[in-house]
Amino acid sequence: MLTDEEYREIVGDPAALYFQVKRFISRHGERTEMKHPAADRYRERTGVALHHTFWLLHVRRSDYGPDCPACGKPYRTLRATLCAECGHGLELK
Ligand SMILES: [Zn+2]
Repeated sequence: MLTDEEYREIVGDPAALYFQVKRFISRHGERTEMKHPAADRYRERTGVALHHTFWLLHVRRSDYGPDCPACGKPYRTLRATLCAECGHGLELK
């Protein structure tokens, strides 16, 4: 998982990447490996080679909500009010 700052450095504009990936998949199919400089930067930074460049759209930590105060796991979505791991509820403001 990347911080917002790391994500900006590695991926740049996620909307632009989304459309590049979508266009690539429509032309070559989703099983064809897509070379992309952002995927190379991600691998260099983290040591993890993603199965497909598309997964770069799912590696930003802030997309998974705050950490649960009870168990420390992410709430998994920005709108979640109940921890999927331990069931701890967030107080609604
Ligand atoms: Zn929890």
